[in-house]
Amino acid sequence: MSNQNSSEPGVDDYIFCSQCGKIIPSNIENGMCTKCDAPLNKPAQPVVHKRTNTTEEWEEYFPYLEIRTLQTQIIELISEENTTQKHVVIQAANGVGKTIAVLTALLPLCLEKKKTIVYCCRTHQQMSRVIEELKMIKQLKPISGIALRGRKELCLHPIIQKFALDAGNAADICRYLKKENKCKYFSNLVKEDIRNKVDEITKMKVLDSLEIFKIGKSLEVCPYEISKKIIPNVDVVAVSYQHIFNPSIQMNFLLNLDKEMKDIILVIDEAHNLPSTAVDISSSTLSNFSIENAQSEAMKYKMGEVYDLLEALSAILIDESSSMEVNEEIVFDPEDFIKKVEKRANQKIDENFLKSLERLADFVKEIQTKQNKTPLSYTSSVVSYLKQLTQTKGRDDFANFILKTESKAGNIVPKLLTQSLDPRTITGEILEKVHMTVSLSGTLDPIEAYTSLIGIPDENLRNLSLPSPYNKENHVTLVIDKVSSKLEDRIPATFITMLEVISEVVESTPKNVGIFCASYAIMKSILDTGLERAISKPLFVAHKGMSSRENDKLVQDFKNESRKKGGVLISVLGGRSSEGSDYPASEMESVIVIGIPYAKPIPTVKASIDYLEKQFPTKGREFGYNIPAITRASQAAGRPIRSLEDYAAIILMDYRFARHYYKKHLPVWLKENLHLVQPEKKIIEEKLNKFYEFHGN
Ligand code: SF4
Repeated sequence: MSNQNSSEPGVDDYIFCSQCGKIIPSNIENGMCTKCDAPLNKPAQPVVHKRTNTTEEWEEYFPYLEIRTLQTQIIELISEENTTQKHVVIQAANGVGKTIAVLTALLPLCLEKKKTIVYCCRTHQQMSRVIEELKMIKQLKPISGIALRGRKELCLHPIIQKFALDAGNAADICRYLKKENKCKYFSNLVKEDIRNKVDEITKMKVLDSLEIFKIGKSLEVCPYEISKKIIPNVDVVAVSYQHIFNPSIQMNFLLNLDKEMKDIILVIDEAHNLPSTAVDISSSTLSNFSIENAQSEAMKYKMGEVYDLLEALSAILIDESSSMEVNEEIVFDPEDFIKKVEKRANQKIDENFLKSLERLADFVKEIQTKQNKTPLSYTSSVVSYLKQLTQTKGRDDFANFILKTESKAGNIVPKLLTQSLDPRTITGEILEKVHMTVSLSGTLDPIEAYTSLIGIPDENLRNLSLPSPYNKENHVTLVIDKVSSKLEDRIPATFITMLEVISEVVESTPKNVGIFCASYAIMKSILDTGLERAISKPLFVAHKGMSSRENDKLVQDFKNESRKKGGVLISVLGGRSSEGSDYPASEMESVIVIGIPYAKPIPTVKASIDYLEKQFPTKGREFGYNIPAITRASQAAGRPIRSLEDYAAIILMDYRFARHYYKKHLPVWLKENLHLVQPEKKIIEEKLNKFYEFHGN
């Protein structure tokens, strides 16, 4: 727990010059930057209301005048004194004010029990939201917090800023620069006056990552190292999922935090993502492209002792995949596969071999860094895959596949995939060790599916599903009858009907419309049926394989249309546009969800269902296949409704959403004003006109 001293200056006692980044005390008299003379903008002070007549300790932490009933329910559930209730799961829609409620409830617990709150978020935007709320609480109570970002985002060194491709890459370059004493931002940290200045500015503060970056820039000290220095002493750390659920990142994070798992109160935001994230983290792939390039690295740096095994690995993979079709997947037995490779190379895949590979990978990266190149070693990919394969072979919670894929350039690339089948492989131990967890999501129905998949035992669970916080008039859900994404319904007549409905929705909606399809194949059929010709607004298509930058630009251009005459965005369910972006207010006034995004019944999916059926008899398919598909659709349907003030029409273009099984798994708010309607122009037009007229359009 941090040193609680209310006389310490708050972060708002300093201003950052937006021109040069200089940190200046906020009480500076002439209002000008002392370094560059630019005028300083003092941040607007949020209105904080000290609550009077408080009866519960948590009330002293709640910074707003009004507290909603739903927020009180969240706070009271978390604050209940019962040591067996270690895991709290809360299902509540956006706009309830979950973040402030959870922090208000947890901070007194954290301070009393000397724990650290680790708030796991999916997006940087959500991490900033946590910091904003902490700053509000900070005006009432002497608390501290930080949003933690990685080296790639925080580094000041031009080589990392220019060349690092990802976090691992940034770590490799940073290690080299520090070892060679080539980073002044790191060296500066040993200077006592600078260390004291960093301490003075950051002690007992609530700091977002941008503020830490600015502090580092101003003092010429590494912002990442500043973060590392701060986190052992703060009450709340907002992080990405990876910091807790990725074992290699978690190890360093806990070291820097200087805490054990038992000292952590873990908040899991957007928790419906956790099962799939955990499975992704513990799965691993290796392409023949990487193996062949690793062979080249071995040859170039004369590592003959690893070359033969790499050659054998590639040859056996090519041989095993030779009769496969493109996009086919087959199961392979890792014991047999390894034996074949070892026999061909007349050498063992053992610890010595893996160590030699690691040496080669480190050597390649060091040479590249010395040459001011991005340190990328294909041998690294080979060694991490082989470690995973040898460590998990024989386990029934992993399955192994050979895939035959086609690259963007049209090359056929065989791949090995070791697929985790059980999220508990990652989550089980963490949930057991931490002091307490709070899982939050708007789409966790049924909660039993979530708790089973991540391994929360019933006896340690307290859960709460809150009613809809929205006015019924703020949204209408129209389920379109007679169309679906079932295979037998994917015929031209269905797509023509869908297009007519889309056209009617687009023309009846004042501004922006989002269309999210169950698959790229369905999106293509809608486009091929003539979407662009059928609508009068500009169309924005999120094509398969778009980079995140291209996607961000597309989404921003679409949002900008809301200030003109409106536009139409088409994308797939579960993609960046449907889950990674919010579209409040007029940024999306109608959303159309086309079909139910079931995963393709390919061998990897079948293996997962079979495994889960064994683990949770009669429920495995539902937990691992049906519910995730409905959740993806619900998530997309909720994109336009992000606060109590937002309103939107939601069109679910698949009659199954009105059936009992599917309807019962939709969020409460989505089904409370739900109507099954015929796919007829007049009916849809009438419903939407009435809805938008009510909202003054
Ligand atoms: S020490 Fe910091 S500034 Fe220097 S290279 Fe590493 S991350 Fe970048």
